[in-house]
Amino acid sequence: MARELIHHRGPQFKEVFGEVHQRLQWSFETTNQVLSLTCSGTGAFEAAMINFTKRGDTVICIGGGKFGERWGEVGRAYGMNVVDMPLPWGQSADPDELRDLLKKVPDVAMVTVSASETSTGAWHPVAELANVVRAHSAALLAVDGITAVGVQSVPMDELGLDILVSGSQKAFGVPPGLAFVAASERAWERYPESDHPRYYFDLGRERRAQAKHQTAFTPAISVVLALREALALMQDEGRQALFERHARNARAARAGVEALGLTCFAQRPSNAVTAALVPEGVSAKEVVQTMRERYGVTIAGGQGDFADRLVRIGHIGFFDGSDMLVAISALEQALRDQGLDVELGKGVARVQRELIGV
Ligand SMILES: *Cc1c(COP(=O)(O)O)cnc(C)c1O
Repeated sequence: MARELIHHRGPQFKEVFGEVHQRLQWSFETTNQVLSLTCSGTGAFEAAMINFTKRGDTVICIGGGKFGERWGEVGRAYGMNVVDMPLPWGQSADPDELRDLLKKVPDVAMVTVSASETSTGAWHPVAELANVVRAHSAALLAVDGITAVGVQSVPMDELGLDILVSGSQKAFGVPPGLAFVAASERAWERYPESDHPRYYFDLGRERRAQAKHQTAFTPAISVVLALREALALMQDEGRQALFERHARNARAARAGVEALGLTCFAQRPSNAVTAALVPEGVSAKEVVQTMRERYGVTIAGGQGDFADRLVRIGHIGFFDGSDMLVAISALEQALRDQGLDVELGKGVARVQRELIGV
């Protein structure tokens, strides 16, 4: 990224962008075109919704956290008929409940879900949800894979997903600035009928430009350059190894927080982030602040109603077991600083055992 900029209409960019496109297809496990947009992940939600539905269409939005619920907010902003499938935060969607809802609600155009719900650390059963959607409706299934792609398998083609989105700043480990949208042929068949107002996020125009390894508008060139390196690292590591490393780090983080008396929040946890409830009387915000200021380790607090109740340890991207050791070690100390009776080394020992499998 620190290198001099290349011109995005020149041959060098075309070559880089072509390579990035191929590698993105590898990470999305798809032969569909994976479009890169210069925006944050939410821009990709918006693009997915307004290019493949019509005004006033019915959309079922699976909730259960800030990001799942965000799809509904986007839909409402465009005047769509949003039917929420509400879910207590921390829980994962029940495919049977979705089936019942699809039987009740007529003419659903799209179902949305966040595979890995970053606000709660929950993983939604995407494969089962995809089966239900296909069996019971003509709706498109749009999946927010922003903290799922490159972490856990969400094979777009194999699962028959219609839309899969992701963003540069999560598993790819590069700065924010790019979001990705892949759409199935079935989704593209609905594009011509789509009548939402749009200009920058007209995916038809992007599709034509990106087929020629160009973008419709000026892209985040430096992020594209960084992404090429990140994708190469991921592909060199290999898909299975990449998923296993995330699974191992997630197991270690979960074991570590539980050894310290915290409770994992998600009923079915994602391998991208571990959300843990702090004990009654402890402020999660203060734990996060102490870890950052006193021990130099950055984790996140909760979101929404859980802002002061949850700590979230991210293990998405280029982390390894040593990072988990450092995080849990700092957490032990920070909890102690909050007056909790924590036995030093207890969480660390548990992480060590998890990492070496004893
Ligand atoms: C980060 C994230 C997003 C997108 O957020 P932006 O700030 O718009 O990039 C969407 N969904 C999930 C699950 C995320 O973790």
